[in-house]
Amino acid sequence: MALIVQKYGGTSVGTIERIHRVADRVAQTQQEGNQVVVVLSAMSGETDRLLKLAHEVTTVPDERELDMLLSTGERITIALLSMELRGRGINARSFTGRQVGIITDSAHTKARIARVTADRIKEALKQGIIPVVAGFQGINEQSDVTTLGRGGSDLSAVALAAALKADRCVIFTDVDGVYTADPNIVPAARRIDKIAYEEMLEMASLGAKVLQTRSVEFAAKFNVPVEVNSSFKEGKGTLVTKEDAGMEAAAIAGVTGDRNQAKITVIGVPDKPGIAARIFGSVAEAHINVDMIIQNMSQATLTDLSFTVPRADLKQAVSIIQAVAKDIEAKSVSVTEAIAKVSLIGVGMRSHSGVAAKMFQVLSREGINIMMISTSEIKISCVIDEKYLELAMRSLHSAFDLDQAQS
Ligand code: ADP
Ligand code: ASP
Ligand code: MG
Repeated sequence: MALIVQKYGGTSVGTIERIHRVADRVAQTQQEGNQVVVVLSAMSGETDRLLKLAHEVTTVPDERELDMLLSTGERITIALLSMELRGRGINARSFTGRQVGIITDSAHTKARIARVTADRIKEALKQGIIPVVAGFQGINEQSDVTTLGRGGSDLSAVALAAALKADRCVIFTDVDGVYTADPNIVPAARRIDKIAYEEMLEMASLGAKVLQTRSVEFAAKFNVPVEVNSSFKEGKGTLVTKEDAGMEAAAIAGVTGDRNQAKITVIGVPDKPGIAARIFGSVAEAHINVDMIIQNMSQATLTDLSFTVPRADLKQAVSIIQAVAKDIEAKSVSVTEAIAKVSLIGVGMRSHSGVAAKMFQVLSREGINIMMISTSEIKISCVIDEKYLELAMRSLHSAFDLDQAQS
């Protein structure tokens, strides 16, 4: 008898009709002789709706209260699915994050999981009950509700699979796997059969929202094999697993796009030691992640310094930087929101050369200007004008031979 954790995302539980279908799949998995643990997201759009309400009440909502609010979305779906299953005579029970012992730190809205007890789940399974668990939520040591960051139900599922030593963790969503690029942007994208944790981690953190970045980090750390599949149709999905020899054959595994960044430029910065430390130190103190940095050649002891931050943190970052700029007597601060980051990812980059050069050629052929570049062993990213992001993704996808074979 296998123990399978099944997570269903927002679109998969977006309507009552879809919840019926989820119930069908859960029932079938059990009938096939498996033990099932279900993890659910809120109905699609619900978390956004709650966030909007909070922002209508006040511009900067208190984060503890925000978590209290946001965690309600998942309570709705777990109760509805459990009712549906029980109505069919299947013994299912809903559980909140607190009830199943998902213990996190206190970083409200982006809490990290410290440990998972899962006692109630183990107990339920022993009694032949299907636990239906609210994703995205946990509690801190003071028993306050926390949430795990957007897309966090993926992490709940992976963490429970690890704690329960499940045989499989299946992430059911609205696409039938991880593709070489977002299939909603690049129609020629292909489904990947098997992808290494490391590649998936880069793809997720560089914009492929099909799996939450932290869930991949967690899966790699605890060696949980994760399968991504469609909740709407039967068929093969993608297995996210340890790297194997075959995975390096192609230079590139995938292309991603990320619109969640903004660029800040400090103009006329005195070019002397300690200035960069001042600027980035102040941003780091506010827990804002700086992604790419570029410093221009200095002219007459002055230089320009540009860097990117998440768009959500832009307002706060700008006010911090304006104060620092004044202190260090920089000339001015400018902001560009309409940027995007296009990236190529692949463990094959370790053994294939010339990937960067080819990427720059492709972008230049399309007349796309590169504002910033960053590379690591298995990825290359370029910051470009946001309006060219889709063009850049499609051109790179095709130039690196990732397009689906035309039949
Ligand atoms: P869920 O609500 O089920 O968690 P998400 O919206 O979080 O679903 O993730 C699924 C979406 O991820 C897809 O609809 C797709 O548009 C997007 N996506 C982005 N990049 C990729 C990729 N490389 N492969 C598959 N889907 C991707
Ligand atoms: N409902 C949460 C969100 O929209 C968590 C999730 O769907 O994974 O971010
Ligand atoms: Mg998701």
